[in-house]
This record gives sequence, structure tokens and C-alpha cells, in this order.
Amino acid sequence: MKPTLANVSIPLPFDRLFTYSIPDELSDLAIPGARVMVPFGKKFKIGYIVDCPESTTLPAIKPIKDILDPKPVFTEEMLKLCTWIADYYMAPLGEVLRSATPAGLIGESKRTVRLEKNPPQTTIEEWRKRSPRKAAIIHNLQQHKELTITQLQKLTRFENIYVPVNELAKEKYVSVFDSLPRTHIKPKTVTFIRLNTRDNTGDDIRNHLTKLEGRAKKQAAILAALLEQHEDAGLEEKVLIQKTKSSKSVLKTLNERNLIVIEKRTVSREEYDDTAPPEELELTLHQKSALQLIQQAIDSGTHQTMLLHGITGSGKTQVYIEAIHHTLTAGKTAIVLVPEISLTPQIVRRFRAHFENDVVVFHSRLSEGERYDGWKRAREGKASIAIGPRSAIFAPLKNIGLIIVDEEHEASYKQFDSSPRYNARDVAVVRAHLNNSVVLLGSATPSLESYNNALQNKYRLIELPERINTYPLPHVHIVNMRDERKVLRTDSPGTMTSISRILRDHIRQRIGKKEGVILLQNRRGFSPYLICLDCSYIEECSECSVTMTYHKIKNHLRCHYCGRIRKPPDMCPKCRGIRLVYQGYGTQRVEEELQALFPDARIARMDMDSTTRKGSHNRILSRFESGGYDILLGTQMVAKGLDFDHVTLVGVISADTQLLLPDFRSSERTFQILTQVAGRAGRSTVEGEVIIQTNFPDHYSIGHAMTHDFKSFFEEEMKKRAETHWPPATRLALLEARSTGEQAGALLLENMCEKLNQTLPSDSIVLGPSPAALARVKNLYRFHLIIKSSKKTDPTAKMLRESIRRAFPKKLPGDVKIIIDIDPYGVL
Ligand code: ADP
Ligand code: ZN
Repeated sequence: MKPTLANVSIPLPFDRLFTYSIPDELSDLAIPGARVMVPFGKKFKIGYIVDCPESTTLPAIKPIKDILDPKPVFTEEMLKLCTWIADYYMAPLGEVLRSATPAGLIGESKRTVRLEKNPPQTTIEEWRKRSPRKAAIIHNLQQHKELTITQLQKLTRFENIYVPVNELAKEKYVSVFDSLPRTHIKPKTVTFIRLNTRDNTGDDIRNHLTKLEGRAKKQAAILAALLEQHEDAGLEEKVLIQKTKSSKSVLKTLNERNLIVIEKRTVSREEYDDTAPPEELELTLHQKSALQLIQQAIDSGTHQTMLLHGITGSGKTQVYIEAIHHTLTAGKTAIVLVPEISLTPQIVRRFRAHFENDVVVFHSRLSEGERYDGWKRAREGKASIAIGPRSAIFAPLKNIGLIIVDEEHEASYKQFDSSPRYNARDVAVVRAHLNNSVVLLGSATPSLESYNNALQNKYRLIELPERINTYPLPHVHIVNMRDERKVLRTDSPGTMTSISRILRDHIRQRIGKKEGVILLQNRRGFSPYLICLDCSYIEECSECSVTMTYHKIKNHLRCHYCGRIRKPPDMCPKCRGIRLVYQGYGTQRVEEELQALFPDARIARMDMDSTTRKGSHNRILSRFESGGYDILLGTQMVAKGLDFDHVTLVGVISADTQLLLPDFRSSERTFQILTQVAGRAGRSTVEGEVIIQTNFPDHYSIGHAMTHDFKSFFEEEMKKRAETHWPPATRLALLEARSTGEQAGALLLENMCEKLNQTLPSDSIVLGPSPAALARVKNLYRFHLIIKSSKKTDPTAKMLRESIRRAFPKKLPGDVKIIIDIDPYGVL
């Protein structure tokens, strides 16, 4: 018997399916996964068919109006995955399906229909009688040749025309294609100057340089600057002119004397666009045995999760690449998740080099059209590898053999700011399970969760305990800034206190030797506090309970949560005192002090403020790599994934920014960022060193980072988590109320708390409701209820979710919103 009903999920903030009947003409296309247009209230909405129950008696319900795509958007596998996400993360299925749909498909389809050949007149006559919509479509196309679906709907006055259009396409009278807005990326060319090494030896040029130094200073300066560059790398014309304060005419003279070459080079607009030939590397023994285990797992055709714990610089990426080769050879496909694609240009470039067009990259800076193209290439099997941030876990690949999650500990895998609040790392495990395939989680600093799973044999642990070429890990010094600051204040009156003497001396030595220096200060802006010395008043955002950060470059105070901007006051608004000072250090202020200490140093600051323009992040990095900067100073952006072999010194201006946050993951994140940034040093023959400045030199996360001792950190932290009942010792759910009035949210949570206590297993713990650490954001009060449930009594968290469902208010007052976050990354 044919199914006659369709259960449809519509993206709405509540969890419910709506049942429609399937009209006869749609019965072939109305299958699970199809995108449909359905009547909803007085309007029409787009939804997804979830299942088609059979029914003999047709209830009086409305029919589906139209089917939007010739093939369903979701396969059965994806429907299952999305259903799991909706259930586990307690998000409406419609919202999950919507976030799994490629951007280009979400809005109104811009599908275009073109007339390919005229049907015989007799056929048209026939249609006029039996299929007036087809006749009308052909009639209009004969006049206009090409029309969008929307235009056709208007001209024919038929709204549901997808089905007749699809039939006409099958009969080859028309063709259908997508005409989404697309940005055409033209190659961009830039003028570069390099030494003419074909006609001159290095000595020739140095001779010229000496001669020119007396009488043609600018020409000499240019030659000197070019001699500093790596071999034939050269410099951008603009940069060179700026640096040497010269002009195009000077360049012309040097060109005429055959000393330099002026050439146009194409540069990429996108960091990953430039392709380099792949590095063919002989794997090390550790890499080989890791790869062997992974290959066996892939070949076994059964699901398995593997945790690749490889110290920084141990060659994890090469293992990923080889594992993917193996997957493709076996005729399967692979997904690679990376934390933030704009921050990982190097890794994407390496994948491109190896797999070229077999890769689709999903990137938030792509246009809708480009993203949709990528999605289609993956779905049609034209590409077998999808790389991207967390949403790439929804890539429509078939026959998945391997899912890699690089830097699996990263917070960015968790969607925290909108529903569904999923963690792509954990979804990867579920998707792999559905496909009988392998998940490879990789990190130098695994999350407590994953490492714990590995120790309990849920995941298979694979280790890369050595750096490539057995380069040693850098030596780490800890500087106690409490003592150091006292000395600095007497040494250099004024406020030069962000850089200790030892760090200063080491920077001087390293830049003297033209070695690279990376400095981490994980806070942007100039200073995080404007404080009144007389009454201790601190300037806060009027909408959020956070201090306003001073940005010296723009001379304003800015809230980093809501973006509100204010002029700094001249006088304390509370006591009218005038002794207002900026306290604390952001990257801008550290940059200023560095520049004062090293007037000749070329310093690059990399943070969210200096990388707003497309490609600027990559520009800074490639200039640093080619020696155009001496010091790279930045926020966590400089801590991750970078592989520069000239970097020998890494300094951490303050290790304490994260440590002081009231969150159960503060120590873990501190250990991770210190280990990761330290890992940037000493990636070649010159030994690296790391200097960490802190007010808490005895803290265990700093101590274990100093000795590069992940296992000891893990054991100590795990013990703490067990004692205080935080994950992975327990399972966590966070309920957050946001309300305009201060009391409404708290009251609601109190109610829920009571109900939860009645239904939760007795060994669960409910904390709160209490004001969140950030008690107010964008003028909404935030209250938290934290639920810790026991993994023993409730291993799959089923009871936890069921209790929350039952405690959830049937109806919410208009001014309160409740957010459910299962496995939250943090509780701030
Ligand atoms: P990780 O991701 O573990 O920090 P990478 O994969 O970036 O390490 O490798 C560090 C460096 O070592 C890279 O420059 C890479 O090209 C190089 N490398 C990796 N494997 C090998 C190998 N087998 N032989 C030589 N060099 C290698
Ligand atoms: Zn604010």
C-alpha cells in the first residue's frame, strides 16, 4: 500500500511534526528527506519530510503544496543523524535540519528554467486539456526563453509548479539550473621586486651596495632590504617603497642597471587558494605505526574512534593525509574538521596540495553560491573529501570511511550561541557509527573527555611521543610577575610592566640573530579596565555586566560583548576625581611597550581588531614567515597550528587571563593554550625556548605545561573534576534563563529546579539558580541552573534529558527565554 501521509518538520523553535497528505501527483517525489512547501496557518512554509506513515483512512488534513527539489536534500543517513542531534541536544528537529541544509538552499530558491526544445504542437494541445500548468509554463518560456521559478509562478499564476517543471525537465523540453548569486574570484596580481640573481652573484650585489651607499642612499637601501629576504622571495613593491622610503623611479633605475627584477605575481585572495606541490615525506617509525593502526581500522569496516595524541610538531597532519589516501584507495570518502578555517590556512593548503580538486572546503567567508556549489560537488560524488569547521560534519558525502577531527579539544566545535547546541566532535562519532567508519581525533592536548574515554578503552589511544627529527621540545622558564613587577617599577618609573627583564633580554638576543619571536597576550584592545584611583570606580558597559575595554588606536571604550562604544570620561562619573588610569594589558598596550623597548623591531599585532579585512590574517603570517616582521604578537590566534621553522622564542605575557575565570575548564584551557603556544618554538635545528609570565607560578596547569607533561596534568585535573563532580566525572546540562526583568528568569528556573529534583536520580546534583558569571548581556539578565548527572546511574543521559523535558514549562512568559545546553563547553 502506498503511503498517503507525510510527517513534516518545520524549522520552528518548538519540537513537533506536522502531518500533511500527499497529493497523487507528488507521490513519487514525496519521500523522507525531501524539502517541501506546506500550508501553515495563513502562510506557506518550507519543511522537510521526516517519514511517510501509511494510512488507509485519509483524515481531513491539508495536502503538501509542492516539492522543492528533484532529489531529496537529505539521505536517510542524514535524517537519522539529525534526529539523534535533535534528541540528544534537545533541539527542535526542524532547526537541526535547517542548520544541516546548505546556505544556498535555505532561502527562496533562485532556480532558473530554460526552454531547450519546443514540444510538438499536438502535445501542447494535449497539455492544455489535461495538464494546464505544463502548457502555461511552455507558453511563457516560449516568450522569454529563461525564467526563474518565482517569475514562472507569477506569470502562470500557478504557485505549485515544481512538479510540472520537473516533468518537463525529464522529457528534456526544459533544463533547470541554479542561479544563485556568486562572487567571481578573479586572480589578483601584485607587483614584486626581487634581486636579479641571474645576471649577478650575491657578491656582485654586495659590491654594488657598498659603492652605492655613499652616493645613492635609496638605491642602497633597496638592495639591502632585498638581500635580507629569503633567496628569490623578494618584496612587494608597495612594502619595499614604504620600508626604504624610496619611489618607483629609484626602482626603475635599479632595474635598468639589471640589479633587480620587477615582476607581477598572482596572489590568492583566499588563504587556501594557493597550491604548492605536496611534500613527499618518508614517515617516521611512530607515524608509520600510527598509520598502520588507522588503516587496519578503516579496512575492518567497523566503527571505531581513535585518539591520536601527538605532541606539537610530531607530524599529525602527515598521518591525516596518509590515512585519507588510504580511505580514498578503499573507495571511501573522508571529512576533516578543523577548528576555524581562517586560522588554519597552513593545514588547508597542505590538503589542497595533496588532493587538489578532490577536496571541497567549506568556509564561512564563501558566498552562499560558492558554499552551495561545494555542497553539490560533495553530494554528486565529484569530491571525496570535505574540509571545514564544525558544520562540515553535515557534508553530504556518501560512503564515509574516515572522519578526522583536528585539535579535537577546541571549543569552537561546540555551537554555543544558537540551537542546535551540538559538539561536532561528538556528532562525528555518531555519524561514523551510522557509517561503520573510523573517527580520528587528533590533538597535542586532548580534552579531558576524550583522553578519559581512551583510558577507559572507549577510544583507541595512539601516541606520537616525539617531534619530527627528534627536535627537542623547547625549554620553558616561568617568571613570577608579582616579584618582577616590584623591580620593574623601581627600575623604570612609569608603567612599563608587561615585559619582564628576562623576556626583554631574550627577545633582544633572538631578534639580533634574526630568529622569529612569537608573543601571546590573550586579550585584545589596550587595557581592560578604566579605574578611578580615588574611589575605585570601574567603567562598565551599561547593557552588560562587564568592564569596558579601552582601545587606544580609536581612543574609545568598547564592550567586547555587545560592541557598545563610548568616549573615555575625563573625570570619574562617581566621585568626580580626575585620577583615572588604565589597568591591565591588551595586545595594543603590549605592542606599545614593545615598540618603546625595541624601537627598531618590526612588530606585527594579530588579533580580531587587526584582522577584520579578508586575507589580512594570512598576509601577516606570510610576512612574518618571510622575515618581514621580527615579532608576532597576538591573541590565541598566534597559539594554534602555526608551523614556522625560524621561531625560536615564544613568550607568554600573562598566563593568567584564562586561569582566573570562574569555570571548571579554566585550568584545562590554560594548560592547553600554554602547551600549544609553546609548541610553536623550536621546530627546526635551533633549539627553542619559552618564557611564561604569571602571578601564579605554582599553579599546576602552569607547572605541567612547563614540563610538557600532559599525563600528569590529566591525572591531577581528573582528580579535581571527580572531587568537584564536573565532567568528565559527571554529565553536565546547563539551563539558562534570559529575561528583561531581573526576577522573572530566576523564578522560572527555581520552579524547574523543584521539578527536576523530583524526577532526577538521587545521585544527581542541581546547582542554582544563580546569576551567571556574566550576569547581564545586552540588557538581558542571565541566570543559570547547572545539572550534574551521574554517569553510573544514567550512562546515556536519558533520564537527565527526560527530567528536563518534564520540568520544562508548558508555556513561557513573553519576556523569558530558556536555553538548554547539553554538555556545555563551559558555564560562564
Ligand atoms: P603537528 O600537527 O603534529 O604539530 P605537523 O604535522 O605540522 O605537526 O608537522 C610538523 C612539521 O614536520 C611540518 O613542517 C611537516 O611538514 C613536518 N613533517 C611531518 N612529518 C614529517 C616526516 N615524516 N618527515 C619530515 N618532516 C615531516
Ligand atoms: Zn555591552
